[in-house]
Amino acid sequence: MIPFSPPRIDKRIVDEVVDTLYSGWITTGPKTKKFEKLLTAYGGHQVTLCVGSASAGLELMLRWFGVKEGDEVIVPAYTYAATANVVVHCGAKVVFVDVEPDFNISVAAIAKAITSRTKVIIPVDIAGWPCDYDAINTLVALPRIQQLFTPSTPEQHMLNRILVLADAAHSIGGQYKGRKVGSLTDITVYSFHAVKNLTTAEGGAVCLNLPAPFDPGAIYTGLNAKSLHGQTKDALAKTQLGGWRYDIIEPGYKCNMTDIQASIGLVELARYDDDMLVRRRQIFDRYAAAFGIYEWAQLPPYDRDDRKSSYHVFLLRIRGISEEQRDAVIRGIFSREVAVNVHFVPLPMMTYYHEEGYDIADYPAAYDNYSREISLPVYYDLTDDMVDTVVRAVVDSYKELFIC
Ligand SMILES: *Cc1c(COP(=O)(O)O)cnc(C)c1O
Repeated sequence: MIPFSPPRIDKRIVDEVVDTLYSGWITTGPKTKKFEKLLTAYGGHQVTLCVGSASAGLELMLRWFGVKEGDEVIVPAYTYAATANVVVHCGAKVVFVDVEPDFNISVAAIAKAITSRTKVIIPVDIAGWPCDYDAINTLVALPRIQQLFTPSTPEQHMLNRILVLADAAHSIGGQYKGRKVGSLTDITVYSFHAVKNLTTAEGGAVCLNLPAPFDPGAIYTGLNAKSLHGQTKDALAKTQLGGWRYDIIEPGYKCNMTDIQASIGLVELARYDDDMLVRRRQIFDRYAAAFGIYEWAQLPPYDRDDRKSSYHVFLLRIRGISEEQRDAVIRGIFSREVAVNVHFVPLPMMTYYHEEGYDIADYPAAYDNYSREISLPVYYDLTDDMVDTVVRAVVDSYKELFIC
């Protein structure tokens, strides 16, 4: 069986983790701080806070901005549940909008969904393909949109417009107009979950890129406390001579990253551009060449003049088939010992959101993308032979069903 998304674990990773285990410090400490600095240099944004997951990072930033009951947050209908669940946790209303044929949130649909209650937009770079950030950033700054904004916290007054909080769970290393994901909008959150491009087993990072007069250093200090129960000193600082006394400045959360996680991330990041992304790109090119000859195969965008993907997963679509037929193709692929996936079942189709009153009929592009989509594996240890096996499994399964 060809697995879908195993992590890349080798001696370098093991050695770095073991080094941390024997160092005498295994939770948030020097390696997490070093990882944050290197992530900042990598993304080109102002400052980075590492956290326990992307979900925690997204929620932390919604809470930082003061999102609460009565507020609305715009989320694409086509994403993983984390993007919307964190909005529910804050007591705010999720406003789903439809997506484009490239899988990403529709800027025209965002424009129609904005009201005086809208506080945040969470675009998602599906499969690593960056959203149209110039269009989104321009939209929130339009005078008629800005005039609708009704600030109610100091942070909201300072920004004085809708916050753009990018869910970049898939897209670290992706590029838009020559700039890396991380520096493209106000706040960007990466995921380092085990199946993501760059992993720490579980983990995430918040990248700040806020306009003046926000002070990124001061916000980092506040967020650091917010991710540790509102404690003014972390456990390491308290071990320093005379450092035992601390204060609690707010009832914060508990979502810090450990140095064990950061040690995996340090190795991953050091070889990310020159090794991981290179291999992922080769796999995308190989899939594109193999499926490009079939009229029934619709390839995902991953390289255009203004954008480069981070090549997270290869979202193949099959032209002119129904959801049930797609499911049958997937069964055929699995029977050929290849694991594939679907990214994603649109959230309005999930029981919780459906019962909340969302209807997939209102998101026709999301449904169309989903119903014809099969996610193909992309990971470092997937060899060319394995890619060819995946291609053969898809083609044979399709032909078995449709070309008798
Ligand atoms: C994986 C994922 C998340 C959540 O990441 P965690 O680090 O597991 O919290 C959020 N959004 C999308 C689109 C994801 O795929």
